[in-house]
Amino acid sequence: MALAPNVYDAEPIPPAARAEIERLLTSGDLFRYTAPENSPVALLEQEFAAMMGSRFALAVSSCSAALFLSLKALGLPRDSKVLIPAFTFAAVPSSVVHAECIPVLAEVGADFRIDLADFEARLFDPANDIRAVIISHMRGHTSDMDAIMEMARARGVPVVEDAAHSLGTTWHGRNIGTIGKVGCFSFQSYKLVNAGEGGIMISDDADLIARAVIMSGAYEHNWKKHPVLHDAFARWQNRLPLYNTRLSNLSAAIIRPQLAEVPRRVRDGRRNHDYVADILNRSPWMSVPPPLPPERRAPDSIQFNLLEMSDEQTRAFAAAAGARGVSVQVFGMSPDNARAYWNWKFLGETPELPKTRAMLMRACDVRLPARLKRAELDFIATALVEAAEEVMGRPRAFGT
Ligand SMILES: *Cc1c(COP(=O)(O)O)cnc(C)c1O
Repeated sequence: MALAPNVYDAEPIPPAARAEIERLLTSGDLFRYTAPENSPVALLEQEFAAMMGSRFALAVSSCSAALFLSLKALGLPRDSKVLIPAFTFAAVPSSVVHAECIPVLAEVGADFRIDLADFEARLFDPANDIRAVIISHMRGHTSDMDAIMEMARARGVPVVEDAAHSLGTTWHGRNIGTIGKVGCFSFQSYKLVNAGEGGIMISDDADLIARAVIMSGAYEHNWKKHPVLHDAFARWQNRLPLYNTRLSNLSAAIIRPQLAEVPRRVRDGRRNHDYVADILNRSPWMSVPPPLPPERRAPDSIQFNLLEMSDEQTRAFAAAAGARGVSVQVFGMSPDNARAYWNWKFLGETPELPKTRAMLMRACDVRLPARLKRAELDFIATALVEAAEEVMGRPRAFGT
């Protein structure tokens, strides 16, 4: 029998990183602000901003740090309410708490995207007094950014995009992360570009980026090593706390040569995803929601809903897939899952959100890295289809 593909190993880091790391080890120059200019972190910022088509970028220690700094740079007063989707990673409500704000959760539908009617109701409810919005494009599923931007404009609140898992995704041909006021990305190992840890934020707003640069730890006059309009910096000298969430030159050296790999990873990831999605959609027991029409996705995993299964059958399906060597995570069923909002007990009382809960109890997550080959995709798809049939029975052909 064929062996189950390993979906956890990352791709090797491009060889170009080795020479640069060797150079950094030899010189000991690991801190981004030691060199007066063109440190690896500064070059990463220039290259990433150019690649995304945004004016400014600030590299930091994680996407969570980027989200935190975004809220801080927006100048939100303590206890401001920030509207976020209820289907996201626990780090997102945590970044809101870290910024001394209060997350308000909006429902997410069976298509893994924000429920717009619920979002609108919460955004415009005067009792909520929403001051900012974070849109998590969870697992790279883009919510309707046209509708969201229009509502946020009408309500007069800024939008932060959590694009941690959306590098390479476009919306009407425009890069995700450039639609809101700020876009935040992750270089943690399970994302498209892997540096172990790391993050970056992009924005066209010079004053906002200037504040974020200072708060990220550009103490004294280190901000002069950033190309942001310098009068924006001078205004904020000594007026902001220094949270020290900088990125190291070593991380930048690992990230920079991977940027050239992004188009290939996006293309292969989408091809792999769509191939497996077609097979799963032929089963009566599984459904992969289609992308929204303006959306061109960059998946490195696949999410699908189980149809007509009870809780017990859902568990049996995950076990049957596991027995075939394919690990399936049902977001709402794996114990202490960090993407199930009822586990965010650090928020105190979490509201009851029936749509999101129903989705989480049947939504499955399977890793599908871009490097997988056709035979490995067939192995995974067949295991999932057979696992569903083992639990639910073989679908009867029409006319029998
Ligand atoms: C991974 C992820 C994060 C957190 O990124 P870190 O760099 O680990 O802080 C936030 N949001 C989403 C949607 C993610 O997938």
